[in-house]
Amino acid sequence: MSTALCVTDLAKSYGGKRAVDGISFDVRGGELYALLGPNGAGKTTTLRMIAGLLNADAGAINVFGVDARQDPAAAKQLIAWLPDEPLLYDKLTAWEYLEFVAGLWGVDPKSARADAEHLLKLLGLWDNRNDRCETFSRGMKQKAVLAGALIHHPKLLMLDEPLTGLDAAASRLVKDLIRERVAQGAAVILTTHILEVAERMADRIGIIKDGKLLTEGSLEELRSHAGAQGQSLEDVFLSLTGQPQGVA
Ligand code: ATP
Repeated sequence: MSTALCVTDLAKSYGGKRAVDGISFDVRGGELYALLGPNGAGKTTTLRMIAGLLNADAGAINVFGVDARQDPAAAKQLIAWLPDEPLLYDKLTAWEYLEFVAGLWGVDPKSARADAEHLLKLLGLWDNRNDRCETFSRGMKQKAVLAGALIHHPKLLMLDEPLTGLDAAASRLVKDLIRERVAQGAAVILTTHILEVAERMADRIGIIKDGKLLTEGSLEELRSHAGAQGQSLEDVFLSLTGQPQGVA
């Protein structure tokens, strides 16, 4: 598969403190890459720079051949961004919200309607399509925002904590939707603190700490890096990030 995203020596400081300190990695089409790290490691900052929501201090970001720092508008057309604290337009219904977002992206209305129906059905929101978003629970809002992020058929999906706060059924639906897009050839980067999700779903895993990429690879490669054959990703992660592992 071709390279979808190539990040090179990306850096960002806040008030003289390096939040992202020269990170390089790449993600291929049809691949799910989990970006893991302790709180404050720099995951969201990295993803926000790739999404063009935050200016990088240094480094290069290439999205399907587009230099995202030179031409952020062209890169954004290719990217879906799901923030960890999604915002919706409360007065719109779910259907109106998707129509609105599709309009912003210039998606043909007929295909947008077909995609909106597919996404709402897949995410279990079809019966709520005419309800205002303000009446939605947190999990329903999260699913509606995800549908909005996917309506323009982005080729690179960046999902910041997409499963946090979802119940088991909703979590299954979202995982199925992510798998569907990967199978269709999209590149997906997700952050999660639910390590079982990364263990089950990711083709490759990158672990960052203090703004630096400590290691990356398949679970097997990370196990061998940590000298932890046969252990869970949680054990490998805690060992590689030098965090206390408790007595469990
Ligand atoms: P978490 O798992 O807790 O969501 P994260 O890996 O996503 O963490 P970031 O949100 O990228 O971490 O934060 C990386 C570092 O940058 C942290 O030290 C954080 O305090 C700092 N930081 C992030 N945003 C800002 C900001 N707007 N101003 C100042 N410092 C910031």
